[in-house]
Amino acid sequence: MAVEVRSQSAFATAQRRFEAAADVIGMSEDQRCLLREIKRELVVHFPVRQDDGSVRVFTGYRVQHNEARGPVKGGIRYHPSVALDEVRALAMWMTWKCGVVGIPYGGAKGGVDVDPRLLSRNELEHLTRRFASEIAILIGPERDIPAPDLGTDAQIMAWIMDTISMHSGHSVTASVTGKPVDVGGSEGRQEAAGRGVTYLSLEALKYLHIEDETPTVAVQGFGKVGASTARLLTEAGLRVVAVSDSRGGVHNPKGLDLEALLEHRQVRGGVSGFKKAEDVTNEELLALPVTVLVPAANENQITQANADRVQARLVTEAANAAVTPEADRVLHDRGVFLVPDILANAGGVIASYFEWVQDLQAFFWEEEEVNTKLHHIITRAFYDVLHTSVNKRVDMRTAAYVIAVQRVANATTVRGIYP
Ligand code: NAD
Repeated sequence: MAVEVRSQSAFATAQRRFEAAADVIGMSEDQRCLLREIKRELVVHFPVRQDDGSVRVFTGYRVQHNEARGPVKGGIRYHPSVALDEVRALAMWMTWKCGVVGIPYGGAKGGVDVDPRLLSRNELEHLTRRFASEIAILIGPERDIPAPDLGTDAQIMAWIMDTISMHSGHSVTASVTGKPVDVGGSEGRQEAAGRGVTYLSLEALKYLHIEDETPTVAVQGFGKVGASTARLLTEAGLRVVAVSDSRGGVHNPKGLDLEALLEHRQVRGGVSGFKKAEDVTNEELLALPVTVLVPAANENQITQANADRVQARLVTEAANAAVTPEADRVLHDRGVFLVPDILANAGGVIASYFEWVQDLQAFFWEEEEVNTKLHHIITRAFYDVLHTSVNKRVDMRTAAYVIAVQRVANATTVRGIYP
């Protein structure tokens, strides 16, 4: 069964989720037919000289789903699973993500089919600059603004910004977000996605009246989002008992010493083998008896095959599409409260929006201001979604989609595309 679910088209899943929301809204076919399609997509094949002198050709993508609410925005992913279908789905999800939190962007996504861990720093820089040149015809502060995602980071964003600037003949800092602070990045951006996951988990626990003395947490994926979520939830008084990465996880029911674990990972290249905890598999981590489960790795992790083993009361879906539609139903029937991906990980794009605003104004904010504004926007969105869920008697994911899809449809109508 799990194999069947994994082989499904990600874009077909995204479209199904859109149709479910459009049904709740009672949207006409005239409106649906535009919103369910991709506006623009670019596929590039480009050469990169390797350190040994050979040449490799890579395939990259930039897809723009919808620009009714403003310029498009979305991450760039470096991963061997990157393919057009997945990038289309992620671009559509970005449209809804920006819509549900009410920031003035449409959705885009990009990526390169590559395992960045197998490249030297020199090769990574060349690949990034060449890819940025290839997609430069689409990129710019008023048009399309990339950001980091799986397998990319602030350094890669700096190289992209520098390449776009070389094409323009002047610095265009607002062309990319998630950059280092030294080149127009925003304070607080680095951990904003994890901070959003943290704010929402705390808000959901409050709403659920979860009485556990110290709620426990398992985080799947100990990357940019997962590691900052684990740290911030610990700071908020929760006990993080398990984390994992692609090679496996570690579990200590008394709580993990995250600083020691980060040092261990630095030396060993992964969290497994940490001596102050037991090793667990990723599958075992998802089924641990914890209060909060945060999937923060990649797609299709909680499926029909394992959703009935999830023991958490709350799932905060930090990774895009970590929970499949079939698993959604199982979790919902079992009373597991889900904060869906388009809301759960929106902290990243909200802080990216702040970075873009600061770059355009060349006026930079203190981190406290970034965090306060992030908290305000994401908490308001949480209660918007919750109220829609209760009023329309739909699950949290459908409610988030209903708000987002309605906002994009409104913008489309007001702009006068429909006769
Ligand atoms: P990252 O590359 O920094 O980290 C990913 C982590 O997941 C790594 O620890 C990796 O080892 C682990 N991982 C990969 N495959 C795994 C598997 N099968 N099982 C367990 N662990 C696995 O990526 P990130 O930026 O933290 O992104 C994580 C998720 O959050 C992605 O879905 C991404 O789209 C989403 N997201 C990221 C941001 C952002 O600002 N970085 C914003 C919004 C959403």
